[in-house]
Amino acid sequence: MSNTNYSFFQNVETSFDKAAKFTKWDKGLLEQIKACNSIYSMRFPVRMDDGRIEVIEAYRVQHSQHKTPCKGGIRFSDEVNQDEVMALASLMTYKCAIVNVPFGGGKGGIKINPRNYSVYELEKITRRYTSELVKKNFIGPGIDVPAPDYGTGEREMAWIVDTYASLKPGEIDAAGCVTGKPVTQGGVRGRKEATGLGVFYGIREVCNMPAVMEKLGLSVGIAGKKVVVQGLGNVGYHSAKFFREGGAIVVAIAEYEGAVFNAEGINEEALFQHRKATGSILNFPGAINLAKTGDALELECDILVPAALENVINKDNVPKVKAKIIAEAANGPLTPDADEILTAKNVLIVPDMYLNAGGVTVSYFEWLKNLSHVRYGRMEKRFTENMNAHILGQMENLTGKKVTDSERNFILHGADEVDLVHSGLEESMISATREIMDIWHANPEIPDMRTAAYVNAINKVATSYAELGIFP
Ligand code: NAD
Repeated sequence: MSNTNYSFFQNVETSFDKAAKFTKWDKGLLEQIKACNSIYSMRFPVRMDDGRIEVIEAYRVQHSQHKTPCKGGIRFSDEVNQDEVMALASLMTYKCAIVNVPFGGGKGGIKINPRNYSVYELEKITRRYTSELVKKNFIGPGIDVPAPDYGTGEREMAWIVDTYASLKPGEIDAAGCVTGKPVTQGGVRGRKEATGLGVFYGIREVCNMPAVMEKLGLSVGIAGKKVVVQGLGNVGYHSAKFFREGGAIVVAIAEYEGAVFNAEGINEEALFQHRKATGSILNFPGAINLAKTGDALELECDILVPAALENVINKDNVPKVKAKIIAEAANGPLTPDADEILTAKNVLIVPDMYLNAGGVTVSYFEWLKNLSHVRYGRMEKRFTENMNAHILGQMENLTGKKVTDSERNFILHGADEVDLVHSGLEESMISATREIMDIWHANPEIPDMRTAAYVNAINKVATSYAELGIFP
């Protein structure tokens, strides 16, 4: 981002234009969709622990209000600038449209390296940022709902909701002003694993499509597929876990200190514990160390899951990548040239814009929970369990046979909050995958799945604008 000639926002516009050619919308409407509707660039003073006053640079961008509220994370990073926040806000519009989350795109950023500040200073910065947003009507459950992003987490979201609620006394839906909150502060269960689980659901759906698998020379289904995961952080860990539980073989995992390989499969939790105990994933029992961490990206495998950083597959290593499917769990793991080369080689690239949308999908469920003021499952769990017990009792009486204890527990179980959140996420990822594939296969001119995803997003946002009508 230090390169002043590079514009992330222009990059997004280029991908948009590439896809817009495959739609029939009025040029003016397409221009409106691309534009960022509201940009709030702010500076505010905060007194630091040593008595000094520091001027903080921060942003909130609302890309589109075709659906409200706007939705998107808040990033704390040295690299934050207006162009980056605009690009990320527009990507949120398209991501929400693809997974049928009824929000417009938004994004926020504070230009700080959180490691250079004390917890008390971070709290003051976050609370002041929130009150600036309140003053300009840039936050609220019906206006704009932030979430965690790079450098922020549950703690910052708890500060935001507390500041908002204290400035808006009596606002009954105040908890819905931000998502990614701790469960004790109105958060929802199932948020932590949401992105990795969404990656798994999306790829499983792709692997269940016979025509797609045939084109790649792969068998249908996840079972037995060889998977390589880069990054053992939140997204990588959970992706590896759900692929393993789904019957795939996670043959290698890479972290920044190195990579480990075992053809029989690696258990991510055991590796995580090994790393915690030894400080490194290397020398994991049963696995071999790879010479360089980047070597993992070049292994023979069916599915490669980059879940760490952007631009990890680029023109230097792309000739050596052997995966048949690349699951973009991270944001922007492929450079545009690497993307083109792999697409030409018939590698299926499942794009980040929809594949890692599990987080925002579950954020939507959190917001709905906040507006309804009731935990998911509270109303129906006992009813379902009583009904299931009754049905099972009748079946056992009629047949004179008993099911096993483990079957009994499975059949009787009524849905908890986490069950419903996972179920809603599964439905969202399956529908989104099918919609994109249908668009791609209906038009042979569309070159890749990423363009098909953009076409889907553009069609939905444009339809929504068309339905709203353009005011004179
Ligand atoms: P994280 O910080 O929890 O994990 C990233 C991991 O990658 C860390 O363990 C880090 O040590 C490792 N890593 C760093 N450099 C590496 C290298 N060169 N090789 C191998 N591993 C390396 O972050 P996360 O939340 O898991 O996010 C990962 C990616 O997914 C990011 O691109 C993020 O933008 C994207 N994403 C995250 C979410 C979410 O809900 N967390 C949602 C959408 C997209």
